[in-house]
Amino acid sequence: MNPGRVYLVGAGPGDPGLLTLRGREALALADVVVYDALLSPRLLDHAPPAAERVYVGKRAAQHTLSQDDINALLVERARAGRTVVRLKGGDPYVFGRGGEEALALAEAGIPFEVVPGVTAGVAAAAYAGIPVTHRDLASGVALVTGHEAGDKPDSALDWQALARWPGTLVFYMGVRNLPTIAENLVAHGRSPDTPAAAIHWGTTPRQRTVTGSLATLPGLVLRAELKAPAIIVVGAVVALRDRLAWFEQRPLLGRRIVVTRARAQASDLVAQLDALGAETIEAPAIHIEPPEDPADIERAAREAASFDWIVFTSVNGVDAYFAALAGAGLDARALAGVGVATIGPATTERLGRFGIRSDLQPETYTGAAVAEALAAGADLRGRRVLLPRADIAPKELADALRSHGAVVSDIVAYRTVLDTASADAVTDALGAGQVDWLTFTSSSTVRNFLGVVGAEAVRASRARIASIGPTTSATLREAGLEPDVEADPHTMPALVDAIVAAEARPAKT
Ligand code: SAH
Repeated sequence: MNPGRVYLVGAGPGDPGLLTLRGREALALADVVVYDALLSPRLLDHAPPAAERVYVGKRAAQHTLSQDDINALLVERARAGRTVVRLKGGDPYVFGRGGEEALALAEAGIPFEVVPGVTAGVAAAAYAGIPVTHRDLASGVALVTGHEAGDKPDSALDWQALARWPGTLVFYMGVRNLPTIAENLVAHGRSPDTPAAAIHWGTTPRQRTVTGSLATLPGLVLRAELKAPAIIVVGAVVALRDRLAWFEQRPLLGRRIVVTRARAQASDLVAQLDALGAETIEAPAIHIEPPEDPADIERAAREAASFDWIVFTSVNGVDAYFAALAGAGLDARALAGVGVATIGPATTERLGRFGIRSDLQPETYTGAAVAEALAAGADLRGRRVLLPRADIAPKELADALRSHGAVVSDIVAYRTVLDTASADAVTDALGAGQVDWLTFTSSSTVRNFLGVVGAEAVRASRARIASIGPTTSATLREAGLEPDVEADPHTMPALVDAIVAAEARPAKT
């Protein structure tokens, strides 16, 4: 068997938007994703639902896998013919041991590609308002490990050279050794007044920055209880932060906001809150899983050519159906004579990735609109229409198509499964006072959420409640919960505005 390919992909520093396009492409191809800690879990959503996900990072003190084990895992999965994405924080070759993994692959004769990533030293600095070079202030930047600063006599670092370096110094893995780093630089001639900053969890909602000088920063970091992961930046450019700290000015930075969902809809609300710096927690979280009995979708794949139309109402439905086609040894050519309709742009785009152009996408993105558009364009009487859908999808579309005379194969292509572990996590976070807001966008989100978390946990917490409108507020009051803000008009953007406005006022105690 030909070996598969391994992609060593830089995941970026934390903000999931800083993954590269090439990295996203590689993830979409993955049969296996091997990943560490420090990653946004959302990055894994770019991999197909069926891809194997292997966590190899550190959890508490225990290493899940040694570096040799990781190298062996990559080689073994690739030898089995699978496409492997090795997802690494920041850039794979900047203190990520990516070099070692690439050497192991080269030695084993496994084809590999490297997808560079946005490295934390540059990105965390930028998000903290520090350009690592500047025409007048720093003519270079050195990326340095702070890990080896501790063992003074046999330190791998040339402190004299570092102290003389005519530019910015960026230390990775350096928080614990910060006192030694500062001491060594000053002892070798760098001015104790040199501006210096420590940036914790850069580019994420948890970003915190402490600034001072080489003389004062170690004490300030200790007092702020700032811990790893953090980047230490030393140099005149740090002073620019006073004018350039754009990210930390976001109105909801670091606010923990729970977004409750009725079903697996793409959440605009999450995107809007993220953009304002909030840390969103989707609860209850929803997973996509294969149907309990795959016989129907397998048959629908084998008999693809027997349908007149296939209507896709979700991205997940497209993925599930093409996975079933592949399972039957078929590909897009099986749909050569079949009309294909999609509910909206996201579904159309996903279908395009499989080489199929949608024949029909309605102007409004609803099931009813698809049915109307189909019926307007063709006589559906006796036509065979396949509907690969979610287990919890509403029945309207199938009913509407049948009312036009179509013979509908309404099959479960995938299931949306509530993740009970996520409900426990939210209950714990509420209990620990870590949730700032709960958002409710419909009465069913209230019932869903309270069904798994319970109204008492909410009442006992310090979390404030944001409701999208009077109906949702009434459902909350029935459960004995009083909303702190209500959106007006009753839209997601207005809900976000109401939270931002309330944040400008003091919180309840
Ligand atoms: N390959 C990674 C670095 C891995 S070493 C990269 O290119 O960014 C791990 C160190 O990176 C951490 O100890 C910390 O110093 C730094 N780091 C990674 N992510 C960070 C973040 N979001 N904020 C601050 N420092 C980070």
